[in-house]
Parts: sequence; C-alpha cells; structure tokens
Amino acid sequence: MNNYRPNASDIADKKFGQNFLEDRSIVEKIIEAMPEDDLPIVEIGPGLGDLTQELVRVRSVTAFEVDKRLCGYLEKRFSGAIADGRLRLECGDVLKRWEGGSLLEQPYRLVANLPYYIATTILLKALRDPHCRSTLTMVQKEVAEKFAACEGDRNFSALSVLAGSVGEATVRFLVPPEAFNPPPKVDSAVLEIRKEHSLNDEAFEAFLRVAFKQPRKTLMKNLSSVYPKAVLTSLFEEVGLQQTLRPHQVGTSLYRRIYQALTKESDHGKKSESECGATKPKR
Ligand code: SAM
Repeated sequence: MNNYRPNASDIADKKFGQNFLEDRSIVEKIIEAMPEDDLPIVEIGPGLGDLTQELVRVRSVTAFEVDKRLCGYLEKRFSGAIADGRLRLECGDVLKRWEGGSLLEQPYRLVANLPYYIATTILLKALRDPHCRSTLTMVQKEVAEKFAACEGDRNFSALSVLAGSVGEATVRFLVPPEAFNPPPKVDSAVLEIRKEHSLNDEAFEAFLRVAFKQPRKTLMKNLSSVYPKAVLTSLFEEVGLQQTLRPHQVGTSLYRRIYQALTKESDHGKKSESECGATKPKR
C-alpha cells in the first residue's frame, strides 16, 4: 500500500469490522458533539483516518489501529501531525493494550467509530478505565439503545445499569448504513457516555449478569439461581419490590441496594458452589 488513499471497499477487512465512515456531515456532527475542553482524545480504529483528520485539528490524539496495512498508510498520511506531536499512533490490538492498564496516563475522552464486533467489550473497558472521562462512539444502534435505556424500557439491561452507575448514557443521533463504505448490515448510532466515576467492582458486574440472565423470567427467579430464596424474599419485602417484576422493571439504584444487601450477607448468605452449579456467575 502506498500513501495514496486506498479505495475503502477494496481494502475493507470484515474480520476487523471495517466499515469506513465516508459521510463528511456525520464526521462533523461527531466533532460538534464532543465536550468542550482540552482533554486529549483516544481514538480506537482510525481506519483510513477521516475522523482522525478532524480530531487532530482540535485536540491531541492517540490512535490505536490493529490493521498493519492501515498503520502504514496512516503513518504517511499523518506524518506531519505525528512529527509535531498532535497524533500518536499505536499499531496493535487495543484490547491487549488495555491489559497493561489505562490507555493513557492522564484523563482522556474516547471518540471513535468502533469496530462493532468488539464495541460492547471496548465500552465496558472504557467504563472501567479510571482515566477515561467520557465516550462518544459510533456503535450498532441496538447496542447504543441498550446502554442508554431507562428503567422500564424493554431493552433496559445490565449495560444500562452499568452506564447508569458511572454517569449518564445518551443516544446523540442515528446514522444510516449508507454513511459507510462498505455499508454495514445494521443501523448505527452515536452514543455518548459521560462518566462521573469508573466501574471498579467486578462482583457487581457478575451480580448483574445473574440478574439479567433470563430477561423474560422474573428478577426473583434469576437471582434465586445463586442466592437463597429466603434471603431474597425478605430483601424484596424490605425494599418494596414485587416478586413478579422482571429484570428490566427495576432501576439502577435498587440494583445497587439489592447488591449491597446481598454482599453484606457475604459468603454464608450465598448458596454453596455445588448448589449453584452451572448458574454460578462467570467471571
Ligand atoms: N475510524 C474509521 C472510520 O470512521 O472510517 C474506521 C472505523 S472501522 C468501523 C473500525 C476500525 O477499528 C478499523 O480501522 C479496524 O481495523 C479497527 N480495529 C478493529 N479491531 C481493532 C482492535 N482490536 N484494536 C484496534 N483497532 C481495531
């Protein structure tokens, strides 16, 4: 690959979730939606660099790209910005990079058109990363709606509770498949999550996986696969929860309360491993 811009549909590699955003008006809308401050930006998956181009005009950017072919192209396209320090390009898998700690050693904002096959994983990592202050990301519409759903919505999920626990999630705008080349098979949305703090309790995440394990069953039924029914019954009574409620009908603060009460019950309040069997929360 030389430094001439490659044709997006010729080089797009499905295994890396490559749907390049070619509609300039959407790129502009993303830039306009960014919070107004000086925090540096992390971009995951700069691709051919069209969003990157606009980001480096306004902020310093660190970009993580897994595809070596694209890294070569980006190094040439952005040689000036790299030389004067506006852009730092890291070639490699961002998920592996996250294993070594925060993506940046200072507060940052994540702005990206994410690879959809790992978008939820990336967003959860960003919610856990103490240096990440907010995310403004293009994701599959259904994923955005799950993060931003309110209590009582049919798609209120463990992701909604996690986002609501750290701050506020909002769907900023919807994006049709034609904005991309090649077009994805799904609708997209730009999702913003503003964080007040970070996720730092893996046990709470595991508790939510149990609570939402079978969304059509009652919350009581899901939780009683792990916690003793008697403890749950008195707890539901104490917090004024009906046993017939399904997981999406209970709000973030009540989930926190139930979790804290069950955690206080500690190990002797939980069923033994053999009783939990296959339904024990997986890490
Ligand atoms: N930002 C570009 C745009 O808006 O046109 C490209 C977005 S494309 C949907 C997703 C990008 O993420 C691709 O460039 C892809 O190679 C990159 N990517 C996929 N998996 C990745 C990973 N594990 N780590 C870093 N980048 C990744």
